[in-house]
Amino acid sequence: IKTIGVLTSGGDAPGMNAAVRAIVRAGISKGYRMMGIQRGYNGLINGEVYEMNVRSVSEIIHRGGTILYTARCLEFKTKEGQAKGLARCKELGIDALVVIGGDGSFMGARALANQGIPCIGLPGTIDNDIACSEYTIGYDTAMNTAVEAIDKLRDTTQSHDRCSVVEVMGHHAGYIALNVGIATGAVAVLLPEIPFDFERDILERMRQTQVTGKKHFIIIVSEGVVGAQELANQIQAATGVDSRATVLGHIQRGGSPTVRDRVNASLMGYHAIDLLDKGIYNRVVAVSGDKIVDYDVNVALSMHKTIDRDMIEIAKAISI
Ligand code: ATP
Repeated sequence: IKTIGVLTSGGDAPGMNAAVRAIVRAGISKGYRMMGIQRGYNGLINGEVYEMNVRSVSEIIHRGGTILYTARCLEFKTKEGQAKGLARCKELGIDALVVIGGDGSFMGARALANQGIPCIGLPGTIDNDIACSEYTIGYDTAMNTAVEAIDKLRDTTQSHDRCSVVEVMGHHAGYIALNVGIATGAVAVLLPEIPFDFERDILERMRQTQVTGKKHFIIIVSEGVVGAQELANQIQAATGVDSRATVLGHIQRGGSPTVRDRVNASLMGYHAIDLLDKGIYNRVVAVSGDKIVDYDVNVALSMHKTIDRDMIEIAKAISI
């Protein structure tokens, strides 16, 4: 391997820049030529590629988003699209690729790997929904952004004796919702993993706390479980408590990455280059405990992880 390409793909996440920086600098320090591919697999197909040097990644470690831009590329799901990507790699002399993204992006990387381009995947998504890794790049920042916003909502919710229903992101996973729920002292947290019952999980919990004198409520809903406005309307109708809905939305995807995201991204980025340098190919890099590990891409894509049921019970036990 002489030349390594790097791209970000799927949804953006704070810390992707820190990963790009680490990959480019580690690659150059080990003697590789580094190529930045813009807009995910679209840029690979279209040839939106430029050579990067150590200064190309200056001033980005603290910036959200991704300087390489990101995109979804339907064409790359097809054999024809993958053939175009392979041809572009050959044309530009890219003989290995580091892909920062989610499971879909790793499937794209696997398709190229199957055609002889060694690939390494890095988990980059705010949702933490990548089975092989305990932490994904951007997850910690997204949670902190949500908590900061909800702390502000709490002030006004308390002043007016209201109920705030807050929708957080998470795709099909409740990791953001559960952790944010605990961190903000939410009276109820609705997760995609657990079917919810309006009477038992909302009204009963509100009533229990009202008996002890509580007059304001924060309820966290993971996206896709139920509409925040619809739930707020139902709560107001059933309890008489003035209820407002807030959808935090894409604000959770931006902003300066936290220390944890910067460090994880940097360590995983370095690890990706280290693997290629050692001739270890087609792996997904992950966080396990306080270690950076890696798995065969097929194994990584077949793994499953589940939300921590104990944490759900603890959240309930202490928000009374
Ligand atoms: P996230 O959903 O967290 O934003 P992701 O990487 O899972 O991240 P996807 O939109 O599923 O996001 O995939 C990103 C891109 O990866 C797709 O637009 C496509 O270019 C490529 N991709 C996805 N699935 C495949 C597949 N089965 N084969 C080849 N390429 C794929």
